[in-house]
Amino acid sequence: PGPAADALVLYGVTGDLARKMILPALYRLTGRGELTVPVVGVARSDWDPAALHKHIEDSVRAAESDVDDGVLDKLQRSVFMVSGDYNDRATFQRLADTLREKAGADALTVHYMAVPPALFGTVADGLADVGLTDRARLVVEKPFGHDLASAQALNAQLRKHVPDDRLFRVDHYLGKEPVEDLLVFRFANTLIEPLWNRSWVDRIEITMAENFDVADRGSFYDAVGTIRDVVQNHLLQVLAYLTMEAPQTDSADDQRDAKYGLLHAVRTVDPAEVVRGQYTGYRDVRGVAPDSTTETFVALTLHIDNWRWSGVPVHIRAGKALPETVLDLVVVLKPPPCSLFPTAGDGPAPPNRIRLRLQPDAGITFFVLAKQPGGGDVATELPVSVDFRAALGPVYEAYERIFADALAGDPTHFSRMDNLEEAWRIVGPILDQTTPPLPYAPGTWGPA
Ligand code: NAP
Repeated sequence: PGPAADALVLYGVTGDLARKMILPALYRLTGRGELTVPVVGVARSDWDPAALHKHIEDSVRAAESDVDDGVLDKLQRSVFMVSGDYNDRATFQRLADTLREKAGADALTVHYMAVPPALFGTVADGLADVGLTDRARLVVEKPFGHDLASAQALNAQLRKHVPDDRLFRVDHYLGKEPVEDLLVFRFANTLIEPLWNRSWVDRIEITMAENFDVADRGSFYDAVGTIRDVVQNHLLQVLAYLTMEAPQTDSADDQRDAKYGLLHAVRTVDPAEVVRGQYTGYRDVRGVAPDSTTETFVALTLHIDNWRWSGVPVHIRAGKALPETVLDLVVVLKPPPCSLFPTAGDGPAPPNRIRLRLQPDAGITFFVLAKQPGGGDVATELPVSVDFRAALGPVYEAYERIFADALAGDPTHFSRMDNLEEAWRIVGPILDQTTPPLPYAPGTWGPA
């Protein structure tokens, strides 16, 4: 990693993501002494320092139950504002002046774009126009394109101004500690690895469910849908960590080489193996087209055509207005070669399962069979569980790690372009389906 940055510019400081996630993350980093550089917020809103300070305070108090006033004050005093439109060259000239004054003429600066994706290129062009890209590390929020071609076009536009090692593409799931835990779980233990292949695994089941609906974000969601919102990015990244080969080292490029190897082996989705759903009532949401065919639920099967996983299906389901909020990865093992024991219920004994829960409470559960007390050798399923938070304490939030890593220059938890291209390739055939999705009632597990 490195070198460490001398300043941070936050485009979209007045926006929703800054309020909900970024400013609270900057507060926590300040509290730990990990944010020591000046921060310059940029947006159109013409805010004076008092308005900016109030916005920071409101954002932090909404996110934190116990606010340290000294830390809050320190953060407020390190954030400055440049107001202006990104389409106006004068905005970037004012930004250059502010950076020179606060951080020096040749400050290495992280430029974090929490702005609508259509503006990523505009901001980069504006920076280049005033000579700010020479010492710039660009960080762009999601989504990176809306399909393979648009992702490549955006990449080409940004690469005009900075080399690849100074271009950090955010997928905030890569910043989640429970996702990184997958690597430790798999490659710091010897218990798991011998089982982790087609000889022992029958299938993999990934569920990313939300028990809430699109609420007031109809116009955002209707242009996106479940496949683009969570499958192309977050769930394929999680699948890569769950199933990739061991990286040579834990360096950023070795990890991303290993993920690329896995994603490259995932067969392009066959639309015949996909079910799209839409919860009833979705079309009445403000901002949603009355005849919308956007999916709010998807279930699909992936196949990994490599030596380790050939023949092991990966079933993914994700959606909104489902019964629970959870992200579970379940590895279902093959049954014993013959069944010796009756089970408590009807039918054969359930197979062993290993459940890696990433949210809401990260942990691992091994579902094993044990003898039911009493007469007869009746096998019954028992969960053997560890809750990581209870055992190890709270984890850092994803945005704390994203900002700390961007400032330190560590690209490990950002998407490399070849990984992103493979992910767009995999879901390509199902991105713009116009057949109506199947209806399902809110609070159920999607269409039958
Ligand atoms: P938002 O609430 O619409 O905020 C957009 C920000 O950009 C505002 O600060 C706005 O400033 C500024 N802006 C827009 N057009 C501008 C222009 N022409 N010139 C200068 N400033 C301009 O958007 P958001 O929800 O925070 O999303 C930001 C990014 O984060 C997007 O890429 C989104 O996909 C991503 N993201 C958001 C969420 C979320 O939950 N919100 C989650 C994950 C990722 P003014 O209002 O002052 O003009």
